[in-house]
Amino acid sequence: MGQDELRALFADVSARAAAYRDGAPTRQHQPARGYREMRAAFDQPTPERGDEARAVIAELAMLAEPGLTNIIGPRFYGWVMGASHETGVAADWLISAWGQNVGNAHATPAASACEEVVTRWLLDLLDLPRGSSIGFVSGATLANFTCLAAARGEVLRRVGWDVESDGLFGAPPIHVVLGEEAHSTVFSGLRYLGLGAKRIVSVASDEQGRMKPDAFKRAIEKLDGPIIAIAQAGHINSGSFDAFPEIATTARAKGAWLHVDGAFGLWARACPDRAHLGRGLELADSWGVDGHKWLQTPYDSAYAIVRNAEAHRRAMLIAASYLPAGEDRHPADFTPELSRRARGFATWATIKAMGREGIAEMVSRHCAVARGIAERLNAAPDVSVLNEVVLNQVAVCLGPDMDVAKADELTARTIARIQNEGVIFVGGAVWRGRQIIRISVCSMNTTEADVAVSADAILSAWRAERDAG
Ligand SMILES: *Cc1c(COP(=O)(O)O)cnc(C)c1O
Repeated sequence: MGQDELRALFADVSARAAAYRDGAPTRQHQPARGYREMRAAFDQPTPERGDEARAVIAELAMLAEPGLTNIIGPRFYGWVMGASHETGVAADWLISAWGQNVGNAHATPAASACEEVVTRWLLDLLDLPRGSSIGFVSGATLANFTCLAAARGEVLRRVGWDVESDGLFGAPPIHVVLGEEAHSTVFSGLRYLGLGAKRIVSVASDEQGRMKPDAFKRAIEKLDGPIIAIAQAGHINSGSFDAFPEIATTARAKGAWLHVDGAFGLWARACPDRAHLGRGLELADSWGVDGHKWLQTPYDSAYAIVRNAEAHRRAMLIAASYLPAGEDRHPADFTPELSRRARGFATWATIKAMGREGIAEMVSRHCAVARGIAERLNAAPDVSVLNEVVLNQVAVCLGPDMDVAKADELTARTIARIQNEGVIFVGGAVWRGRQIIRISVCSMNTTEADVAVSADAILSAWRAERDAG
């Protein structure tokens, strides 16, 4: 490709991206077209001959844009998703353009060194043990998996079994203790590790979805042999945190490895007015947390944080004769992948753009918006917020005094109506036996000004559905 052509291509992409982002505040949050329409739109035979670059990009944008979800919009409250910070996105473009493969420190020194420094920043912001290691992975699913692989190796090593060499067949059984309302991806991680979803010792949770500390204690005290316990910082419906000082102390007394799934909730520790929620979780052995949720890094980005860096490295080490070794930290020794994008750069840029103060302000603002929406909804006579809004999550029950089946059906219809109207976007879930609306305030573009609009959008959709019966 000629220089002029290359510049024109990148300028074209930059203009398209800026136009897309400019339109985000006023665009509907729900995509205009659904999956089947998108599949039909993209359905073409395998290309035989190459096409001109700008034409390829123009066609991609033309095809995709009707099916894009406005996740970066100010009132996108679906699931728990961040808004891909502009500075992080810009860094991400450079990462792709630079074409760095961050497996090995000698092969890609800038990318590898950046990850080492970002490791220090993350431990500082999250106030976790400073010697911990971090693997830069694709999401909290993989962060939890990576941490649990380190846990599996270490609890077996302590009883004289080398899982990295000898595998799991014949190994002393590992007990896994987990709250009954753990995130579904934790079960996936355990499955990948050969620990099996059905072998888990499940601990009862309270009405906020927190593991009951006394039930945790009873469950763990009965067990003999290697134990991995998994707690949660930020329940997906309520935002609640497990009772950390207590759970961590119990786990330690029993010699268990304690892992914390803090995909979004761990960021409470970077916010002085929310940090109390996560007090004591620094006593754990490992933590999984996303960058692409609350920190707003572009996808895909998450951090597998392990106190015992050697256990982490033993579990993930990739050694080969053609890979330079030596004293330096090799990024691939801490992640399941060898070749991958240089995620550390995007995290570096996002943290630089926001700073400690900006992150704290954003987390605090999101929690205030969640409380504001919850207060307005609770003021309506036939709406009830089921959770204590301690963080950014709001679990809304419509028609709490109605027949449950009827209320569930009306709630599902209300969610569809809200999504179709497009002013805000909310998802649903079944929690505590009821269909709820789930609001997650996690976009950097959400402000206090969105509180009233959002509550009104929910209440008017609910009234319309309720009155239509
Ligand atoms: C989102 C989430 C996960 C999974 O994270 P991904 O980034 O989607 O892989 C795990 N645990 C909790 C509590 C989450 O909210």
